[in-house]
Amino acid sequence: MKKVAVLGATGSIGASTLDVIARHPDRFRASILSAHSNVAALAELCERFRPDLAVIADSTLEGELARRLAAAGVRCTVASGHHALTAATAGTSCDIVVAAIVGAAGLDSTLAAARAGKRLLLANKESIVLGGPLLLEALRAGGGELIPVDSEHNAIFQCLPGGRPDLAKSGVRRLVLTASGGPFRGRSRAELAAVTPDQACKHPKWSMGRKISVDSATLMNKGLEVIEAHHLFGAPPDAIDVLVHPQSLVHSLVEYVDGSVLAQLGNPDMRTAIAHALAWPERIEAGVPRLDLADGGALQFEAPDLDTFRCLALAFQALRAGGDAPAILNAANEVAVEAFLAGTLPFLAIAEVVEAVLTELPAQAVVDVESLVARDGEARAAARRLLRRPC
Ligand code: NAD
Ligand code: MG
Repeated sequence: MKKVAVLGATGSIGASTLDVIARHPDRFRASILSAHSNVAALAELCERFRPDLAVIADSTLEGELARRLAAAGVRCTVASGHHALTAATAGTSCDIVVAAIVGAAGLDSTLAAARAGKRLLLANKESIVLGGPLLLEALRAGGGELIPVDSEHNAIFQCLPGGRPDLAKSGVRRLVLTASGGPFRGRSRAELAAVTPDQACKHPKWSMGRKISVDSATLMNKGLEVIEAHHLFGAPPDAIDVLVHPQSLVHSLVEYVDGSVLAQLGNPDMRTAIAHALAWPERIEAGVPRLDLADGGALQFEAPDLDTFRCLALAFQALRAGGDAPAILNAANEVAVEAFLAGTLPFLAIAEVVEAVLTELPAQAVVDVESLVARDGEARAAARRLLRRPC
């Protein structure tokens, strides 16, 4: 029986993870559940899954969570704040950590899981974009293993021999990440000028949290995933391609020097990647409907439009610049997306803010977590200054 910490339990990945766990009560138990501030949803999950520990990141809500759990007759320890989350992640109450917090807020707990040698199921791509080298070092020091949950990286992991080998020695020529193209595929810049947050969050194939949905609409999500693939698999930027595939059935591909191209296919449902990562190297049922290719029609592939969707080009630029440029990109993007979701920034201005902050803060070497967090703060401040400027 493996004890699983689900960080970000009230989110979309959290829900898919708990669904898979509930299908395998003989193998997995949700021992730690966490959320940011949605006390009602966290309390409900605790009633259903009976964890040992519930952590609410917003400390002002700890009392309310404790009251709700007591009223529902749920006996579990209650804690709050980021320190409690990192301590719990590193402690003995879990064997597996599902990092499903959104944004840079997930960095500390992801690093803590890696340092403590847990099996780390990484959904929180922002933490590896932000602190890639530090996360890899923490994994080495902790002796744990990282299994990617992001569907593209999970697909690549499945198409590589033995998980995460040396690519050159394994005859790998390129990694090809597929992208659905998001809700605005095929549109011109003029057609994107006035799109709303609700339009941006209406993803054609995946049901996800609002931040990643906007990232999918700008193609920044694919940009973050290119950086994620670079760190996870040790692929140089020139050996990573992006291919738009609107059906979202081919989750990514690996091209070998002999001309073979291996792909992983499946219905667009995150439970496949989560079940794979939970049970690896075994396979377990995920609750995902069978893929019926005969029923599915044609599979289309096309090159991404980097002129309209500038965020993808900016992510490649940040990756090539190296150092902490990806962290700057990520921080500026988080601030810009928040402003777009709040209705105070136009869609096309997200890329403009990211580009301006990358120009203002040239890349520096990544030294340690403290300096990285300081640079993340500088980039957020620079982005916020730009948002205050009149158009
Ligand atoms: P979501 O918005 O649905 O859920 C986010 C979760 O994080 C919630 O439980 C929330 O309470 C928690 N959270 C938010 N801010 C926090 C903070 N400051 N401190 C502590 N907890 C906090 O997001 P999601 O769609 O589930 O995505 C989660 C992560 O997984 C993201 O990094 C996303 O890029 C990645 N991911 C998601 C999908 C998907 O299909 N949803 C696919 C691949 C990767
Ligand atoms: Mg993905």
